[in-house]
Amino acid sequence: MSIKVFKDSGSKGYDLEILDPSATVQDYLDALNNFIDTNMSSPCRGCDECCWERIPLTSVDVFKYIETSSKELKLGSENLLLEFLKKYCYIYVEGRVVDISLGFTLEGACSFLNQTQKICSNYLARSLVCQSFVCLESSERPRI
Ligand code: SF4
Repeated sequence: MSIKVFKDSGSKGYDLEILDPSATVQDYLDALNNFIDTNMSSPCRGCDECCWERIPLTSVDVFKYIETSSKELKLGSENLLLEFLKKYCYIYVEGRVVDISLGFTLEGACSFLNQTQKICSNYLARSLVCQSFVCLESSERPRI
């Protein structure tokens, strides 16, 4: 473990300690997600601020969605990748460039956003871009 994330004693949020100076952004996100998973009864706070933008997906994001939530996403065909791309993604191709982003509703919201409750319906599998919007309260240290 290169980054430790724990409850901030002074608030309802979190604090962190860097245990290894070579820690990566992914190490931070993994530690934060583990903290969210084990400490928060409702991980998504419902601010929906990140959910009205274009959300580009990496190939890792796509496989993570399929691996962690194919049941919730009701994916059941023999080709889960193709089914996921067709049902939940917007794909733009220009020459050799293939740009994949999360699908969105007519109003422009991410298709995983529960607009009534303003919460993400697939929070723990959310993409790298979604994870970069850290919406939990925190001490001063994570904000630096
Ligand atoms: S996946 Fe979830 S967190 Fe990301 S934009 Fe969609 S609703 Fe928001």
